[in-house]
Amino acid sequence: MSIKPLIILPDPVLRQVSKPVERVDASLRKLTGDMLETMYDAPGIGLAAIQIGEPLRMLVIDLAKEDETPTPHVFINPEILESSDQRSVYEEGCLSIPDYYAEVERPAAVRVKYLDRDGKLQEIEAEGLMATCLQHEIDHLNGVLFIDHISKLKRDMVVKKFKKLAKDKMSGNKAPGRLVG
Ligand SMILES: [Zn+2]
Repeated sequence: MSIKPLIILPDPVLRQVSKPVERVDASLRKLTGDMLETMYDAPGIGLAAIQIGEPLRMLVIDLAKEDETPTPHVFINPEILESSDQRSVYEEGCLSIPDYYAEVERPAAVRVKYLDRDGKLQEIEAEGLMATCLQHEIDHLNGVLFIDHISKLKRDMVVKKFKKLAKDKMSGNKAPGRLVG
C-alpha cells in the first residue's frame, strides 16, 4: 500500500465522470489499500478513486474517530436507489479543496447498492454522517464537487482562490506535489 498524491481543485481531472469497475481483482484491492492509506494520511473520512487520479467508480469511507478502532468501508460501483424527502445540513470539506468548509443540504438518508471488497453485492441504508459522506463521494464519481451545492458567488470565490494558489505553486516549485526525496 502506498500514499498517493491528491488531485486538487482546479485540476480538470476532478470533473471527469468515473467508469464502472468491471472486475474486483487483486489490482483493484491494491488500489483500495492505496486509497485508504491516502485517506488516513490526509486525514479524511472519505475518498473517491478520482481524487488520486483513478477514474473508477469506487470510494472508501471510515467515520471512526481518531481514538476509535478504524472501520474502513469500501464501496465499488455504488448507486443511490432511494433518497429521503427529509433533508439535513452538514458542514462539508473535501481533501481536493483543502481548508475550505461550507454547509451543504442533502437528503438525510439514502439507500445505496454497491459491491464490497470481495465483489459481493451489498445494500446499505445510511443516515446521518454516513449518508452525507456517501452522497459527497458518489458526487465525485460523477465529476460533481460539494462546492457545486453552494451559491455561485461562494463557489466562484473558492475556485478563484484555488486557481491563484495553483498558479503561485507552479511558479515557485518546478514539480508541484512530486517531491519524494
Ligand atoms: Zn470530496
